Amino acid sequence: MLQTLYRKLIPQTLRSKIYQWRTSNEVSLPKYDCPICKSEQIVFNDFGSPARKNVMCTTCGSLERNRALWLFLNDETNIFTENITLLHVAPEKIFFDKFNQQENLIYIYGNKFEKGFENLYPEGTRSLDITDLKDFEDNSIDAVICSHVLEHVPEDAKAMKQFLRVLKPNGWAVLLVPIDYNRETTYEDWSITSEEERKKHFGQEDHVRWYGRDYPNKLEEAGFDVTIYDTEKELSTEIQEKYRLVDEKIYFCVKPN
Ligand SMILES: [Zn+2]
Repeated sequence: MLQTLYRKLIPQTLRSKIYQWRTSNEVSLPKYDCPICKSEQIVFNDFGSPARKNVMCTTCGSLERNRALWLFLNDETNIFTENITLLHVAPEKIFFDKFNQQENLIYIYGNKFEKGFENLYPEGTRSLDITDLKDFEDNSIDAVICSHVLEHVPEDAKAMKQFLRVLKPNGWAVLLVPIDYNRETTYEDWSITSEEERKKHFGQEDHVRWYGRDYPNKLEEAGFDVTIYDTEKELSTEIQEKYRLVDEKIYFCVKPN
């Protein structure tokens, strides 16, 4: 009824102007950026359980930690500027697509093939066991990226030592893990083996521990020099909001000379 009256009383040209004005005012402007796929976003998707609001890039699927790592790699490492050999463990697709195109990289990517994970990784992913990198010689790799893997690996200290072994002196590794900062020391209990119990105790059914604030000590014990890059301290609040980051600590591990 109102619609009909509106049509009768207002001429078509004016109606179309009103429509244009209304819709142009309804268009929101992009407020966020994804530094990985370089897309502007009005709002990111929610992700996680319980859901974190406005955190997942609607274009490439990046999460807060992926974007923080990307900014760190760009700002603080030689990954895009020098000819280096990179070993990328459990290659995330968003990074794989970028690294694979980089002409300066000799790019080696692999993961331990386990049932159910075969199709998760890009074609050409090689099968490797990070606790025994037998295909790699000592001092042969310039950089290692291994994100959210060690919490699945019972012999994590062995894996850290293997990374140190294959790295060249001054080579670096970024070994990200989930950390419960309320814990002073890492929580492990080898009597917990069922998926249900692991989820309850370690936060996910295939995790074997909760790392605590002693995580960097473990990296040092393996032989690395460790420096901490803290997004909250290194980046302005505007940048953190623009890229939708949370406080992320990246432990940058360098093999001593
Ligand atoms: Zn993106």
